[in-house]
Amino acid sequence: MIDVSGREWLEDEYLELFKQGIIKESEVVRVKGIQGKRCERCLNQSEDWFATFIYKEKPVKYCRQCLDFKMIDDAQYLYRSIIPAPITEKSEILNQDFQLSFLQQRASDFAKGILNSSGIGMIWAVCIASQRKPK
Ligand SMILES: [Zn+2]
Repeated sequence: MIDVSGREWLEDEYLELFKQGIIKESEVVRVKGIQGKRCERCLNQSEDWFATFIYKEKPVKYCRQCLDFKMIDDAQYLYRSIIPAPITEKSEILNQDFQLSFLQQRASDFAKGILNSSGIGMIWAVCIASQRKPK
């Protein structure tokens, strides 16, 4: 079975999964790809990262920031899974042997709050290889 929790797809991708019985209509919400000044996939709000082309004599606005994931524009919809991520006894437990920095702890607390409230949130961060200081 494919875990589709927390995923989102363009319409053609969603319809393929729907056809295969992997996801049901009641398990997704449909949102415009670009709503006003915001890309719903990458949350870009900078006009510098939007571009426009003309299709059938109408302007179509698309997001360049997440273009690597396939073009999303204001004429398309995203299908967002509302299935919560499964947490089971088999889920991996992360054991860390180091102290989180202030900002890492803040992000961790935020993520735990989201998980405990079944809410929605996003952490925008840059990952680095190690927190350990050289000896
Ligand atoms: Zn985007």
